[in-house]
Amino acid sequence: MTPSSSYLLRDGPRDECGVFGIYAPGHEVSRLSYFALYALQHRGQESAGIAAADRGGHIITRRELGLVSQVFSENDLRTLAGELAIGHVRYSTTGSNAWENSQPVQRSEGMGGTRRELALAHNGNLINAVELHDDLAASGVTFSSTSDSEIIAAMIASHPAEDVEEAIADVLPRLRGAFSIVAMTRDRVLAFRDPQGLRPLSIGVLDASGSDEGVHYCVASESCALDIIGARYLRDVEPGELVTLGPEGLQSRQVVTGARRAFCVFEYIYFARPDSRMNGQVLQVARARMGEILWREAPVDADLVIAVPDSGNAAARGLARAAGLPQDDGFVKNRYVARTFIQPGQELRRHGLRLKFNPLPEVIAGKRLVVVDDSIVRGNTTRQIVQMLRDAGAAEVHMRISAPPIKHPCHYGIDMSTREEMIAHERSVAEVAAELGCDSLHYLSLQGVYEAIGTGADAGAGAPGGPLSHCDACFSGSYPLDGTGAANGKYALEDGSSELPLVRA
Ligand code: SF4
Repeated sequence: MTPSSSYLLRDGPRDECGVFGIYAPGHEVSRLSYFALYALQHRGQESAGIAAADRGGHIITRRELGLVSQVFSENDLRTLAGELAIGHVRYSTTGSNAWENSQPVQRSEGMGGTRRELALAHNGNLINAVELHDDLAASGVTFSSTSDSEIIAAMIASHPAEDVEEAIADVLPRLRGAFSIVAMTRDRVLAFRDPQGLRPLSIGVLDASGSDEGVHYCVASESCALDIIGARYLRDVEPGELVTLGPEGLQSRQVVTGARRAFCVFEYIYFARPDSRMNGQVLQVARARMGEILWREAPVDADLVIAVPDSGNAAARGLARAAGLPQDDGFVKNRYVARTFIQPGQELRRHGLRLKFNPLPEVIAGKRLVVVDDSIVRGNTTRQIVQMLRDAGAAEVHMRISAPPIKHPCHYGIDMSTREEMIAHERSVAEVAAELGCDSLHYLSLQGVYEAIGTGADAGAGAPGGPLSHCDACFSGSYPLDGTGAANGKYALEDGSSELPLVRA
């Protein structure tokens, strides 16, 4: 990431990829993939890619650094014609933004009739990537990238099993960590999810009209990508399940059963788009409920509720409703600054966040404000927001955050800074409030989060096979996978502490 773009991005956790796959003869699969990726752009803005093939033909991949709208031309979509396709958007960690690490990755292994051609796109992060890489390297497999996604692709492509489903069924239990994966051979799309179900993956059904070959299916990280292409949400890919989309329609195989489920609770709070559905509810509604509970947990004498746009919008609406307080826009947000490659320079840099948020003194001045946002990681942005509001004349600034304090790093594919950089690390809430310069601060309790998403306060406990258990490790420090902590040393690969500079997908 360039210094200018990191300067302008918000100080929040960052998801690291969105995936899509479709098998639909008779449809323009690359165009549908393009628009599905367009809907998933919030999950990754560093690179985008689509792989496509005619049934039995060769796989063609186009991938490039940049936004979906920048990467693909009309001509690219025509070149990517075919009956099946997969796609990917990626967020990369600092220093790892190389073209080689963009996806889908493509591997061809074997010779002649046993040759397996495979493209693969991955959302998540393996915690045993180093061991897997070493095993493959020892058997002579070479790599063209430093992503754990290519390790998975190599394991499947080089597997001796005749059927790719058999290969995946053997490989899947050897992968440890978070993975929602779509892959394609020359004649089918395959989708599978880690046994904990950490990252989301939904199945959609395409409208059969316009196609002469009946019902077709697609898979996507979030249901908002299904909506945009007119597909109907069918169900989620189950944790540990392998789904095949091909000439026989949709086929399913439960590869791993009985594992402790651990869906990422931060998807509800922050990562997923508010119009996506998870656990049977649209997230906009769940986030508004978080705001209502936030008010119940920590009411305060105030005049006006404002959101930090757009991340705090839904919770602010819920909080204002519960409080019976008016709500207004305290800031106008420039929605187009997420990617600028022009350095702001010294003169503009001192205006800080104003490049992104401009406060409205006419709305704010003299008011006791409740300011709602969805999370605080390092606190740099929040500190500047509080100062901007004071400079604009706010009488009081009461911060309300619709997530618990983030105190622990994520090892399952989310970039959240190191523990030491987190403002809540080894600080009380009062100490964080003092650091931020606000009059009061309240974080939504973890029980409040679970109440808002309708799963009950014990949902984080994660009974094996239980339908509604979650990962909340970045708040609680309780990692759902044994050995996550022990894997950290090897896992801190971007620090140069390993000889293998792996990047996350
Ligand atoms: Fe999600 Fe946090 Fe668990 Fe990572 S540690 S998977 S961000 S809940």
